[in-house]
Amino acid sequence: MEKILNFINGELVEPVSGNFLDNVNPSTGEVYSLVSDSDEQDVNKAIEAAKNAFPSWKKTTREERADILRKLSALIKENFDEFVKAESTDNGKPLKVSENVDIPRSSKNLEYYADEILKFEGEKFSDEGMGENYLEYSPIGPVVSISPWNLPLYLFTWKIAPALAAGNTVVAKPSEVTPMTAYMFTKLCNEAGLPKGVLNVIHGLGHKVGDALTTHPDIKAVSFTGSTATGKIIAKNCGAHMKKYSLEMGGKNPNIIFADCDFDEALSVTMRSSFANQGQICLCGSRIFVERSIYQKFKEGMIEKAKKLRQGDPLDPKTHQGAVVSEAHMNKIISFFDIAIEEGGKILIGGKRADLPGFFVEPTIIENLSHDCRTNQEEIFGPVVTITPFDNEEEVTTWANSTEYGLSASIWTKDDAKARRMASAIDSGVVWVNTWLMRDLRTPFGGMKESGRGREGGTYALKFYSDVKNICIKR
Ligand code: NAD
Repeated sequence: MEKILNFINGELVEPVSGNFLDNVNPSTGEVYSLVSDSDEQDVNKAIEAAKNAFPSWKKTTREERADILRKLSALIKENFDEFVKAESTDNGKPLKVSENVDIPRSSKNLEYYADEILKFEGEKFSDEGMGENYLEYSPIGPVVSISPWNLPLYLFTWKIAPALAAGNTVVAKPSEVTPMTAYMFTKLCNEAGLPKGVLNVIHGLGHKVGDALTTHPDIKAVSFTGSTATGKIIAKNCGAHMKKYSLEMGGKNPNIIFADCDFDEALSVTMRSSFANQGQICLCGSRIFVERSIYQKFKEGMIEKAKKLRQGDPLDPKTHQGAVVSEAHMNKIISFFDIAIEEGGKILIGGKRADLPGFFVEPTIIENLSHDCRTNQEEIFGPVVTITPFDNEEEVTTWANSTEYGLSASIWTKDDAKARRMASAIDSGVVWVNTWLMRDLRTPFGGMKESGRGREGGTYALKFYSDVKNICIKR
């Protein structure tokens, strides 16, 4: 059985302990590979390698770093079909999602930061008759990147690309549940010309390697994407050791549909924002609020479309809905069906495990819940949405803002003034109007409240991975 190895100082190596964890294919429930069960000893070796590689990597020119990122991007493209198949097998997501979203975006992330670093300039300030001030950005040192399982290679590259482009060396930890594509990526690093030790990848359990990664004195910054609960542990560790941190965490995103929207477009995009990737995208709209006059029609439209979602083998191109990522995650999702019923919820469709091998949950729509119940407050992170009628802007704004989260929101209306009013009133890092998941990589990405600290994307990520110095020269 294939062993997923750590990548330290340019070499693929077994963990020091020799221990491995099972890696399960979620669409069959079967173990299909083994993943390194790393511990502190492996982390220390990786950090040592990153520390040793830093002095020469930070002296490389931007062009040299950009060239290597472009080569890595090209190598993903050359191995596109293998990456697509591996991502769907490891995560359970339909082939179409890996093919159209995960893998293209992974190579795009590297290309984007290859371009962006060439344009990254320190700002200048006018002298006001006294002197000139200008900013100089420099790499901060070895950094840690920790990524989740829902968009494995996509989020892995989203973090390492700006870190490497800005001249830092990296120790990355992909999710233990979906380690395969990061492992495949490490096999390409030497071919792309990435010097030894510049990128190191440690596999294994977060709670086992987490403290070693986030408290080590040689690590200068930690970038994390995952749950809010883990983010809080990381913030505490980083705070205690004076490290920079950037946290991209959970969401419970409102999707607000006014009667004056383009009904068909709102309905079809709402189906995507509810069930794409089995609802396992942090930006999925899990609380749907529909203006009362179109509530019945919208609800019926969603049920009709949900009936047509074909669940099954992720590798079958006809599949719309694959498996959720693991048995533990499936059980967590399913536990919310009883909670919702206890809270007075009515399950309109779905509400159970699908009758398939592996870990499949039926696309589920629930109504008749109050905005403050657990089902409407806690992140379920599966193919489960609630739907609620509303009567006016004020009421729906209060409900939308009523959770601890503030990651994203969608608003559907043809009234431009109303759209802008609502967009300003909603507490979230991104608000989409008449669309969902439209991304310009130059814009800041992240959440308010317990959804995030800091922003990624564009120059925001490059600044996070840099120290800034103000140089003031007297006239
Ligand atoms: P998770 O927090 O369980 O794990 C994320 C990563 O952190 C994994 O690599 C894990 O091994 C590691 N980890 C776990 N404990 C750790 C510790 N104590 N110290 C250091 N690292 C540790 O999250 P998950 O279940 O993999 O991912 C799902 C979550 O990610 C959801 O909450 C989702 O909303 C969130 N997410 C957020 C964004 C965003 O951009 N805001 C994007 C994708 C996913």
